[in-house]
Amino acid sequence: MVDKNTCIGCGACMSMCPVGAIHFDDNGKAEINPEVCIKCGTCEGVCPVSAITIKKD
Ligand code: SF4
Ligand code: SF4
Repeated sequence: MVDKNTCIGCGACMSMCPVGAIHFDDNGKAEINPEVCIKCGTCEGVCPVSAITIKKD
């Protein structure tokens, strides 16, 4: 999930996501589509402010 209070809208996660699961919401904050996300963890690693947490199950 994305902590929208922490996200600065840099877009890094979006450009790195291999399946295009991330988009901006109306406020310019990243949003992950859980139905598309394969939980690879890439976005979590590239976020400069650690706004993303990927929960693996
Ligand atoms: S965990 Fe991987 S697939 Fe899921 S949103 Fe992040 S980069 Fe995309
Ligand atoms: S990489 Fe982090 S700060 Fe940048 S848009 Fe994604 S969640 Fe927001």
